[in-house]
Amino acid sequence: MAQTFDRHRRLRKSAAMRNLVRENHVRVEDLIYPLFVVEGTGIKNEIPSMPGVYQLSLDKLAEEMKEIVALGIQAVLMFGVPTHKDACGTEAYNDDAITQQAMRLIKEAHPEMLVIADTCLCEYTDHGHCGVIHEGEVVNDETLKLLGQTAVSQAKAGADIIAPSNMMDGFVIAIREALDEAGFEHIPIMSYAVKYASAFYGPFRDAAGSTPQFGDRKSYQMDAANAREGMREAASDVKEGADFLIVKPGLAFMDMVLRLRENFNLPIVAYNVSAEYSMVKAAALNGWIDEERIVMETLVGFKRAGADLIITYHAKDVAKWLAR
Ligand SMILES: [Zn+2]
Repeated sequence: MAQTFDRHRRLRKSAAMRNLVRENHVRVEDLIYPLFVVEGTGIKNEIPSMPGVYQLSLDKLAEEMKEIVALGIQAVLMFGVPTHKDACGTEAYNDDAITQQAMRLIKEAHPEMLVIADTCLCEYTDHGHCGVIHEGEVVNDETLKLLGQTAVSQAKAGADIIAPSNMMDGFVIAIREALDEAGFEHIPIMSYAVKYASAFYGPFRDAAGSTPQFGDRKSYQMDAANAREGMREAASDVKEGADFLIVKPGLAFMDMVLRLRENFNLPIVAYNVSAEYSMVKAAALNGWIDEERIVMETLVGFKRAGADLIITYHAKDVAKWLAR
């Protein structure tokens, strides 16, 4: 019989054959694990909407870091949850605040660990917005000064990478200039370049205590309907000197990972956000899905779309699965 069709199944015949032709891989080095630190001692609070993710006091953070290092994870993203919050987010740029203490502690115990600092104000302001407020508006340029101060304070505390997340215009250049002036020209910026105003952040706000006390974040985070706008945001950040570009959230916005991959040659980071984690965990706890397969399929999907790195709350589980 004359062959009239293609035989794609030849390359799927056995596990070895499939391994041979596999195009994308998730490595433990691709994973960034978010951490939430709180003031006090002996605190390890499980976040109700994020089973397996904890708010940790510094003593408990030390234990957690040992586990993370043993798993081969080499990068963490730090979020601090201070007790004292005020209108200007003072604890964000206080050199002795909880986040800075946590970073110092990690770098002292594990100098090789890459500490990425989330650089924003919403965890530190009493109104929960990502900047300074005047007459109900988040004021852009005044906020930039505070972001610069926060980044410098974080770099002084040992942050290896500054990750600004508040979507103010000009945040990358403001932080770059502040870092350079303070002698931190060697510290890269991982910009949340394409960040949407998303319902997928719900559980995170429990974890970081950063729910806005009025209104929402739609005047500074992007409309979920817009892709071309995301390209403009990314282009601005590249022009301003970003070293990495983050797409957040990841799962519903995988097209943006692909678009960025095709248009920019910087490392692209997908943020597999809190609700993406919570949905998987809830379904897994109910026995409705195969958690490991769902998670690995999601993460390899980010790689296929073109992400180099993935920020994920699943990182510890994934590291265990990869090590088997
Ligand atoms: Zn924020």
